[in-house]
Amino acid sequence: MGAAKKGKGIPIIEVNAEWCKRCGICIDFCPTDVYDRAEDGLPLVARGDDCIWCDLCELRCPDFAINLKPKEGEAVS
Ligand code: SF4
Ligand code: SF4
Repeated sequence: MGAAKKGKGIPIIEVNAEWCKRCGICIDFCPTDVYDRAEDGLPLVARGDDCIWCDLCELRCPDFAINLKPKEGEAVS
């Protein structure tokens, strides 16, 4: 647990479509343009490998709809 914390790496990005109200904050704040916007406004993880794990999307989401977590198997090298 928490082994991928240092340097963080690239997370798995989960967007809870039921909680998301399609405000677009995560899309607008992401510094590396990870998200595309679906037709209905739902953020889509289009460029997940570009994520620098800055936490902005998770922290700014007013509905706690984004969850970032370490990729399995990446914790220990
Ligand atoms: S953690 Fe940062 S870089 Fe990664 S998707 Fe969220 S806002 Fe973008
Ligand atoms: S910030 Fe949260 S509620 Fe707004 S579009 Fe992104 S995931 Fe949905």
